Amino acid sequence: MSGKNVTEVVLAGPEGIAKAARILESGGLVAVPTETVYGLAARADSPEVVARIYAAKGRPDFNPLIVHVRDVEQAARYAAFSPAALALAQAHWPGPLTLVLPRRAEAGLAEAVTAGLPTVALRAPAHPAMRALLEAVDFPLAAPSANRSGFISPTTAKHVLASLDGRIDLVLDGGPTTAGVESTIVAVRYDGSVEELRPGPLSIGVHGEGKGIAARIEAPGQLASHYAPGKPVRLEASEAAPDEFLIGFGAVKGDVTLSASADVSEAAARLYACLHEAARAPQPRIAVAPVPDDGVGRAINDRLRRAAAPAA
Ligand code: AMP
Ligand code: MG
Repeated sequence: MSGKNVTEVVLAGPEGIAKAARILESGGLVAVPTETVYGLAARADSPEVVARIYAAKGRPDFNPLIVHVRDVEQAARYAAFSPAALALAQAHWPGPLTLVLPRRAEAGLAEAVTAGLPTVALRAPAHPAMRALLEAVDFPLAAPSANRSGFISPTTAKHVLASLDGRIDLVLDGGPTTAGVESTIVAVRYDGSVEELRPGPLSIGVHGEGKGIAARIEAPGQLASHYAPGKPVRLEASEAAPDEFLIGFGAVKGDVTLSASADVSEAAARLYACLHEAARAPQPRIAVAPVPDDGVGRAINDRLRRAAAPAA
């Protein structure tokens, strides 16, 4: 099914969900809204299907995928939950928290999902469309962000088509996503210690060095250049040079603004839409106003630094 060159878009209502479930059952690729960004979902129990995700995104196969589940009960088939991990899942699921936990081998996940690691990244998302889909199928869904690897993440169905039209089977359109940046990723080790691997919408009070993933697997999501708009990006800008498209925040007015009222949650929700607009603008460069490094502001600044880093 994947590989045909027109991607259908349907509303994320009951009929759309049913259609998406049928496509997923037969091994297709479906972009689905979550509360963070649109995910590119496929069944996580089939090596051939998981290989299609990597191919559609052009994603290096050493960068493991997040496995989406209904709840802790389903997640526990695939990973060993320590008391610390269970407490985090119970407090924050469904929601924008991904837990990296010791993987249960022989549990039926395709090896490529975890890129051969002894751990697996699991999340129970809160978005009603993704939840309905997880209820409708009897397998977990591997779902990285629904964009070509290395580029700006999608927060609307249109963003998905801009990079994956013709490469996937279906887009479920659920409108713009609300949290706007990818899930917080936290590793919970055997000894109960907790490390934040990627900042996200949810702050759980531990701050990792941000090098946890890079040290283990050198994943592009954690490498310097990612979320790239394809033009130079200058950060901490208070005004635009003549050849710059300015993304504003608070008092810094831009060509577009992340949040005129300096609200970091609004800024997170608008971040990728602003970057998509900047990428399409005629100006050859992008400048971005400073964003406070509090709460989800940490996730925004993490993504902006990677968007600004020169491509490898
Ligand atoms: P994305 O799907 O694009 O949001 O990226 C998922 C992120 O989760 C990537 O940065 C991966 O490196 C990370 N990830 C997935 N599985 C693992 C794992 N087992 N250990 C560490 N990081 C992981
Ligand atoms: Mg991504």
